[in-house]
Amino acid sequence: MQTIQVHDKKFIPYITAEEINSEVRSIADRLSTDYAESKPLFIAILNGSFIFAADVFRALRIPAEICFIKLASYKGTKSTGEVITSIGLDADVFGRDVIIIEDIIDTGKTLNQFLPQLEHQQPKSMKICALLHKKECTVFPIHIDYLGFTIPDRFVVGYGLDYDGYGRNLNGIYQLEEQ
Ligand code: 5GP
Ligand code: MG
Repeated sequence: MQTIQVHDKKFIPYITAEEINSEVRSIADRLSTDYAESKPLFIAILNGSFIFAADVFRALRIPAEICFIKLASYKGTKSTGEVITSIGLDADVFGRDVIIIEDIIDTGKTLNQFLPQLEHQQPKSMKICALLHKKECTVFPIHIDYLGFTIPDRFVVGYGLDYDGYGRNLNGIYQLEEQ
């Protein structure tokens, strides 16, 4: 992996595609065991989680459904503090075992806003699966049931995550170079 440029910024290699793949497999194995009997419903939060969600979903060995919602709180490399929903939930979650798939949990604001809306629809259970967690940025504590990596407070791109629209197609994860 090499240092890369996205727009005006340089990013350095941080997590390789192999390391991601190994975490994805181990998460999918755990999910396949934990939900062997229940035909769970996965809800992936767009845009950032589309690649992680697809890879986890494909690695499952159980019958399961997936749907997508679109929430966003980031502009450039900073959180705006405001969560906007632009595609809502079209699945019926009542009585279902639900697993939310996020690319990264930063302040926890996105999920802190979305979880009560979902709870309102009375799923049987609700768990969180995230590839990355910036633990030290927590403002709204979220319990993550299936987590790939805990990372420091440094902006990252790749594997679905973008910097102003670009960088999502990188196979690994890259970290903003320190100024
Ligand atoms: P939260 O609401 O937990 O503060 O932020 C969650 C969302 O912010 C993530 O789903 C992601 O879209 C975005 N985000 C947070 N940190 C990063 C980062 O380092 N890189 C990118 N590309 N997006 C991030
Ligand atoms: Mg996101």
